[in-house]
Amino acid sequence: MSVQKSVHRPSHIEWSYWERELGWDQTLTSYLAYKPLEKNYDFVVVGAGFTGLSAAYHLAKIHPTAKIALIDRHLPPLGASTRNAGFACIGTIGEFIADSQLERPEHVWDRMHERWLGLSLLRSILGDVAIGYEPLGGHELFTDEAEFERVLTHLAHCNTALKKRTGLDNWYKPTTINDYSAIFMPREGQLQPAKAWSGFAQLCEQMGISLAWGQSLVDVSKKANGVCLTVEDPSQHNRQIHSSSVILATNAFSTSLDRDISVSPGRGLVLLTKVLDSQPWQGTFHTHQGYIYFRNVGAHRLLLGGARHVDVSGENTTQFGINKDIKSFLFGYMNEVLGIDPHGVEYEWSGIMGFTPEKNPIIKAEPSQNMVWAVGLSGMGVALSTGLGKQAAELVS
Ligand SMILES: Cc1cc2nc3c(=O)[nH]c(=O)nc-3n(C[C@H](O)[C@H](O)[C@H](O)COP(=O)(O)OP(=O)(O)OC[C@H]3O[C@@H](n4cnc5c(N)ncnc54)[C@H](O)[C@@H]3O)c2cc1C
Repeated sequence: MSVQKSVHRPSHIEWSYWERELGWDQTLTSYLAYKPLEKNYDFVVVGAGFTGLSAAYHLAKIHPTAKIALIDRHLPPLGASTRNAGFACIGTIGEFIADSQLERPEHVWDRMHERWLGLSLLRSILGDVAIGYEPLGGHELFTDEAEFERVLTHLAHCNTALKKRTGLDNWYKPTTINDYSAIFMPREGQLQPAKAWSGFAQLCEQMGISLAWGQSLVDVSKKANGVCLTVEDPSQHNRQIHSSSVILATNAFSTSLDRDISVSPGRGLVLLTKVLDSQPWQGTFHTHQGYIYFRNVGAHRLLLGGARHVDVSGENTTQFGINKDIKSFLFGYMNEVLGIDPHGVEYEWSGIMGFTPEKNPIIKAEPSQNMVWAVGLSGMGVALSTGLGKQAAELVS
């Protein structure tokens, strides 16, 4: 199997550590075949992040004999799925408090439950080894004791609400870690995002789905018996393909296809240290209402990311790149709060999230257009993406 070199991603965009770990910066992902697009399909899925992969996988399960294509502008895909922090998380109590000021608490717990179901589905489809899953637990960390006490007052009813939905006890437990107060989340884990992505892509390929890279959707129009998709290839040639239905899983990049789809881009920065002599933070950590997050990678590296609140408008972009103000803020945080010398940072990269005003992803069927949108996965979308892709496949069917 060979891959067309020309569909490789733009060279100025930094690789994530996860992508490097799989050697993608050195060699193309030669285990994935490039399939030239044909003229007609039963289903086309646009966007090969986790949502698109799940949509294509579930379409193939529901319609084993259907002709299905999954297309993306780049190989590997270039959005959030292989460039995130790899938290397998469902949400903190701090997030619950913030969100329940904007929507009913039941809706916030329902979303946490959806994340739990989505993670369980991903793990059951691919298996923990294939996604690099490690059940090390998570923490919400507090540098302000008054804030910790305030959050603690919500612990019991969050545990009760999640038990009611999942049947499982003890989602949140107070603890102390490295002299800071924290809430431990024993069911939170971590994964290797690029490994999970490649496992899912290979599974789709084995199921007979045509994976076509370097194909950018520029227009969709309704035609008799389906839709006509105009796609541009790397040499900027346009061609048209016909499909009975289409699923759009283009996340942060969706408004370029339809201005009425309310998804705003949010760039996120991730830093990763070299292998350190000692690294006292094992597991995943959320702090400052989720704006800052960090975790171990292996036993001796520390990953630190977030801090979009430092420059919200500057990060409202679909362009990849490193925000110097945010990087400098994170360096200070690493030094002052985590006790780790920021000179040890070895890798940095960015990814693009897609935010909706309501925080829930958009799952929208337009039956008259033979089209389903599954976009706007926000900052904890790994957990939601598998379930959302499944929902999209069921809706289009
Ligand atoms: C820095 C960062 C850290 C994060 N950390 C976490 C975390 O720890 N845990 C967690 O749960 N979530 C995290 N997230 C969020 C999570 O990664 C995303 O919510 C999730 O990956 C979204 O998946 P997706 O498939 O919907 O979108 P994406 O992965 O963005 O995929 C969309 C795809 O669509 C393609 N595309 C777009 N337009 C077109 C077009 N016109 N034609 C063809 N292809 C197109 C893009 O190339 C892209 O590959 C993080 C995100 C970022 C950016």
